[in-house]
Amino acid sequence: MKTNHAYSIWPNRSTLAFSMIKTFGTSLFPVLFMILILFSNKSFSQVTNPKNKTNMNILNDKIQDLKFHELPYSYDALEPHFDKLTMEIHYSKHHKAYYDNLMSAMKDNPDSKSLSLIDLMKNISKYPTGVRNNGGGYFNHHLFWNIFSAKPQSLPQGDLKLAIEKEFGSFEDFKKEFETAAKTRFGSGWAWLSVDNNGKLFVSSTPNQDNPYMDIVEKQGIPIVGIDVWEHAYYLKFQNRRPEYVATFWNVIDWKKVEELYKKSK
Ligand code: MN
Repeated sequence: MKTNHAYSIWPNRSTLAFSMIKTFGTSLFPVLFMILILFSNKSFSQVTNPKNKTNMNILNDKIQDLKFHELPYSYDALEPHFDKLTMEIHYSKHHKAYYDNLMSAMKDNPDSKSLSLIDLMKNISKYPTGVRNNGGGYFNHHLFWNIFSAKPQSLPQGDLKLAIEKEFGSFEDFKKEFETAAKTRFGSGWAWLSVDNNGKLFVSSTPNQDNPYMDIVEKQGIPIVGIDVWEHAYYLKFQNRRPEYVATFWNVIDWKKVEELYKKSK
């Protein structure tokens, strides 16, 4: 008879819950609902939205855990410089395909559980061409989207400004060298500004979806600026006029974001 002593004094839990809902239900539910939304949004964005991540945090993600991250702005955010349709196709078709193909190429590879994206790229010579092309494509576009903004800081400042002047003479001289690398890359590829092993900046270009992290490039480094010079990046708006597209690039690049990458590279 000891069992229900408490229950004779206190209503059982379901009765209590029911009367609480009756009393507070109408006012509490919207609040609880909002809290739920806030929390679920938070965890969702931590996983998929690079706005809440430092750009290159994906480098340490294991291959099997890589996500196709949200674009950090809307498709039309970089208008009139980069047009909405190109952005939409570039991100949702091209970038997505690199991601999907990388995931399927690595699906049955036991390395995928333990290997990070950065280690994959640094050892890319040991993997099939499909992994190299799609792994590069996945990473390169992630970097590319994350150095732009609708309201960019238009010039480098602080340490990065000084480093650019030290290495290239002036910001204008750097731009010239970078543009030349982008314009003269034959066929498809990328031009880069990277930091080498000694912390020095250098400009380079790579074919296809290779990048300076990879152990197959002429000079390895940590890329902090990259321009995609594949025709899919500009053909709808600029057709064959790659130099115009390259010149437009300076209007959308956010040097504040590049400065963050530069700091992290050191
Ligand atoms: Mn591309």
